[in-house]
Amino acid sequence: MRGTILYGPRDVRFEEREIPKIIKPTEAIIRISATCVCGSDLWPYRGINPVAQPTRMGHEYCGIVEEVGSAVKSIKPGQFVIGSFFASDNTCPNCQIGYQSSCQNRELVNTAQASVLRVPLADGTLVATPDVPSDGLIPSLLTLSDVMGTGWFAADAANVKPGSTVAVVGDGAVGLLGVLSAKQMGAERIIAMSRHNSRQKLAREFGATDIVTERGDQGVARIQELTNGIGADSVLECVGTQESMMQAISSTRPGGYVGYVGVPHGVELNGEQLFYAHVHLHGGPAPVRRYLPELIGLVWNRKINPGKVFDLTLPLDQVAEGYRAMDERRAIKTLLRP
Ligand SMILES: [Zn+2]
Repeated sequence: MRGTILYGPRDVRFEEREIPKIIKPTEAIIRISATCVCGSDLWPYRGINPVAQPTRMGHEYCGIVEEVGSAVKSIKPGQFVIGSFFASDNTCPNCQIGYQSSCQNRELVNTAQASVLRVPLADGTLVATPDVPSDGLIPSLLTLSDVMGTGWFAADAANVKPGSTVAVVGDGAVGLLGVLSAKQMGAERIIAMSRHNSRQKLAREFGATDIVTERGDQGVARIQELTNGIGADSVLECVGTQESMMQAISSTRPGGYVGYVGVPHGVELNGEQLFYAHVHLHGGPAPVRRYLPELIGLVWNRKINPGKVFDLTLPLDQVAEGYRAMDERRAIKTLLRP
């Protein structure tokens, strides 16, 4: 079998490696139908997160179950399944209240850019679709493994409700799907912050009513202007930089909510500024597993089409070009088919 390995900055290789096998009886082996490159994969790819040794890559996946361990009860060979980047038992106290990405037994799944994948805690982690999907549904189902679930969590954490005014900081795949999520949750006004034409277009298609191209303080001023000097009810932070986090907090009305899902890189909050901002902050690694049943239903019934964020599809053995295209912002998100 071949899989993706990152050797160092901008050095992605697709190489022969051992086929994963079941180690613990709670695991499953799945044959990958589709995987993709995540915006967060670009941090190590660009050398911002150091790469100490050759590292297997990929945490977004869906595919057909090939084999299950002896303790697996609900997942069966032949099923089409989707799982999250954190495997979870779905039974511990944190899972029970819907925070599966804080599961007491969580395990990172991070070798998915390959043709075969071992998934820990299969019963708790994997959710099967009603049937094996047609090929056209696979891109949208794949997004539920991370980006769509993360955009949905951002909107949920930001308390988006019918009639809300929402601002979305970040026009990557997560930000764009945050727009779609806010729309689906009934937001009346959705302000997308983007300066890229193709991304603005997709944001509008997903439900954005306004586009703000300014950033930083000017971006905040523009949001204030669009909301009669009050700020947005809900702001989705989908980048993870100091500038984007401050932009999100400052764009939120007193009493409003920030849902932050961009993995923070060097973000430091000033206590006094936070004190006087009067906003709710809620975020973190999205509990994607919580949303899988509902989101599978929405995709299955063609209510949402989040797969549109994939503007580049490549065979898996061209994964290096998939990273390059995203790094150079030629692609929003790359879908990889084994
Ligand atoms: Zn758990």
